[in-house]
Amino acid sequence: MRVFVSADMEGASGIATAEDVVKGCEEYSRGQELLHRDVNAAVAGAFEAGASELLVNDAHSTMRNLDRERLDERAALIRGATKPRSMVEGVGREHDVAFFVGYHAMAGTPNAVLNHTVLAHELLRLRVGDDEVGELGWNARFCAALGVPVGLVSGDDATAAEARAALGDVETVAVKEGIDRFSARCRPIAETGGEIREAAARAVERVDEFEIEEPEEPTRIEADWSATNHAARAAGLPGVERIAGRTTRVEAESYPEVFEQAVAMCRAGAAGRNEFYG
Ligand SMILES: [Zn+2]
Repeated sequence: MRVFVSADMEGASGIATAEDVVKGCEEYSRGQELLHRDVNAAVAGAFEAGASELLVNDAHSTMRNLDRERLDERAALIRGATKPRSMVEGVGREHDVAFFVGYHAMAGTPNAVLNHTVLAHELLRLRVGDDEVGELGWNARFCAALGVPVGLVSGDDATAAEARAALGDVETVAVKEGIDRFSARCRPIAETGGEIREAAARAVERVDEFEIEEPEEPTRIEADWSATNHAARAAGLPGVERIAGRTTRVEAESYPEVFEQAVAMCRAGAAGRNEFYG
C-alpha cells in the first residue's frame, strides 16, 4: 500500500491568518510547527493501517516548509518549488491513495480561512472545462487521471465541505471553523491531530471504496485574473491563449499535460505583478 501526501499549510490546525503561513513573518515558525504535527499525524495513521511506503510533497508557497529532520522518518519528502506538477509532484500510478493535508477552500468561498486558488491576489478563478475548481479540485483531477483516488482531506470546515462536494464520501477532518478569511475558531491541536491520524488510517483501510472520476480529455483550463497585466504576462507563454482582457486558456489532449501547462500559466501570470493603489 503506497500513499501520496500533498501538504499545503493554510488548512493546518491552529492556523488562521497570512502571518502564520508566510516565511519571514514573526508567526511563521509556529505555523510550521503546527504543519509538521498535522502531516506527522497523517503519516502515523497511514502506517498504523498498513501502508508500506509514503511520499510527502511539500505543496505550500516556497515548498520549503517541511523540514526533513522534523518529518516522520518513515516518510519520503519532496522539498522545493521548481516542480512542473507543483502541489502534486511525485504522485504516480504506483500510489494507491492520496491525502490532501492542510488544504484550504477555493477563492471566493465565504468565511473560508485563507481562501484562494493558487495565488493569493492575482487569480480570481480557475476552470477545468466548465467547472470552477479550487486547488483541491484541480489536484484531485490530476491524481484521478493517474488512477489514484483522494481518500483524506484536512482543512477548515469549508474545505471539508468542498472535498465532500467534489469527491463524495472521502475522509475529511475540519480542524477549525472559519470566521473570516483571516480569522478562525481553532480546535485543540491534540484533538485534531488524533482525528487526522484516525482518518488517515481509515482512508488506507477504505482505499477500494473511493471513486475515481477521470477528467474528460482533451481538456482546457481557463484562468480569470484580477487584472489585465496578469493575463498579458500569462499569454506571453507559448500555448497560452488570451480569450478576454483578464482571461487566459490552455488546452491539451491529456489532463496531466494541460495541468502542467496551467501551472506554468499561473507562474507566468503572477510574474506580471505591479502594485499600485488609488
Ligand atoms: Zn498554500
